Amino acid sequence: MTEFCDYLVIGGGSAGCIIARRLAEKSVGRIILLEAGKSDEGDGAATDLSRLDEQTAAYDWGFKAATLEGAKPELDYARAKILGGCANHNDCAFLRPPDSDFLEWESLGAKGWGAVDMAPYFHRVMENTIVEEAPHHPASQAFVNAGLELGLTKIDFQKQIAEGVGYFPLNAKRRLRQSSSITYLHPLSKLPKHLEVWTETQAIKILVKNGKAIGAETTRGTIHANRAVILTCGSIQTPQLMMLSGLGPAQHLKDHGISVMCDLPDVGEHLRDHVAAPIVWETHDAIAPWEICPFEATMMLKLDGDAPAPDVLFHLGLRVREKYGEDPRLAVNGPAVKASPNVTRARSEGRVRLASADYRNHPIIDLNYFSDPYDMRFLLKAMRFTRRLLETQSFQALCKAEVHPGPDVQSDDEWIGYIKSMCETVYHPCGTAGIGRVVTPDLRVKGIGNLIIGDASIFPSLVTTNINCAVMMAAEKAANLVLS
Ligand SMILES: Cc1cc2nc3c(=O)[nH]c(=O)nc-3n(C[C@H](O)[C@H](O)[C@H](O)COP(=O)(O)OP(=O)(O)OC[C@H]3O[C@@H](n4cnc5c(N)ncnc54)[C@H](O)[C@@H]3O)c2cc1C
Repeated sequence: MTEFCDYLVIGGGSAGCIIARRLAEKSVGRIILLEAGKSDEGDGAATDLSRLDEQTAAYDWGFKAATLEGAKPELDYARAKILGGCANHNDCAFLRPPDSDFLEWESLGAKGWGAVDMAPYFHRVMENTIVEEAPHHPASQAFVNAGLELGLTKIDFQKQIAEGVGYFPLNAKRRLRQSSSITYLHPLSKLPKHLEVWTETQAIKILVKNGKAIGAETTRGTIHANRAVILTCGSIQTPQLMMLSGLGPAQHLKDHGISVMCDLPDVGEHLRDHVAAPIVWETHDAIAPWEICPFEATMMLKLDGDAPAPDVLFHLGLRVREKYGEDPRLAVNGPAVKASPNVTRARSEGRVRLASADYRNHPIIDLNYFSDPYDMRFLLKAMRFTRRLLETQSFQALCKAEVHPGPDVQSDDEWIGYIKSMCETVYHPCGTAGIGRVVTPDLRVKGIGNLIIGDASIFPSLVTTNINCAVMMAAEKAANLVLS
């Protein structure tokens, strides 16, 4: 089967749904949005945030990542395989990045991506997105009050990103997620006729002719795109698909027997992610069920007085369980809560590489956490601060004792050993096809015509906040750039 369209958007996640919708509003010809996973429409486990824990591996690509250089890839690195992408299985923490993040992007060469340039795109996202403050579970209240007892200020994080403590804004209308599939595309039957959403269709190769992208081979045949191919497969699979198509580091491609269409040494490199580590406390009593989502309360710390924004962001988990189950290393005998601080502008860089030239094989993900000493320095300070929560009356009323890491961990070396062995991801990969390295500031892939990238891969550096809001803002801008 061969199909023809004007714009082919590959990857129906946070970014792809926005770009496809915005192009369709301008009637630019036939648009096809490809998504490898199933449709989320009518699937309550995907669209109802409170049913988060019903999601299983069936919603996921099943990737594993290595946390430290040379380590075995053992970390479950959740990546959603469903229309709506990771925003349909995330925790809906929705924080607008501070202006300083975009000023940094601009200083790194992302001309046109400064704070003033990006502000209108936040407002465009908010035209479609309802954001509500998370409910206040008694355990979340204890965490917030403990922060206040330790001298922090109460912050409304919907209004500002600053040092302090408070509740997450959630992109959810009560329980209904406000992922971009739901807010920009549903109901699919009412979409403009020139926008087609093809679910359960995976792109396996971008077709390149005379230095231009002309379409893609997919699991449902060939699709030709007259005007542009737009990649929105996320920070792991956008570089994977590029490399499978001969667009990447030449030697690596040759090692896998792939013909080099364009030598792009930075494809898959500079992978950044928010690295975290857990402290777990047993509570006096059972934790009452939460209303919508197990992550309601947060805390931000500015550990470096000169930093433009907080260096550390916490998630208080009303449970210890990870995305798809218990972590046996964090076993507890009774009810427990967990606080995970993460380094907001982590500097360590990992990479995504191909395991083979077969698109069905998972890519190799090396997170390379702590390769930059900055990250350990801040996480160490953050862990010591976290332990102090139990000195407060509010937290003592909630928690019996710290069970992980427990009192044996005291010295810097003991903390570093614990952090290295127990580090967690906040699932925020970005930067693997960054502006200035792989794409120009108008998101065109260097050296290849008609090929645009519009997802979290293009971030020049990490943002201070959970990244979905920034992804959505970037997608709004990407749509604008395509149209202009
Ligand atoms: C468990 C988890 C919790 C998170 N919690 C939060 C949170 O609370 N707040 C926050 O701000 N962020 C959170 N995030 C991160 C946030 O959701 C993502 O950063 C964001 O969704 C990324 O958007 P994207 O468009 O770059 O990629 P994605 O949303 O991952 O979309 C990529 C899409 O492309 C599809 N695809 C991939 N390859 C192909 C192919 N070859 N052909 C066709 N389709 C393909 C995928 O199936 C997927 O649907 C979380 C992420 C995870 C995994």
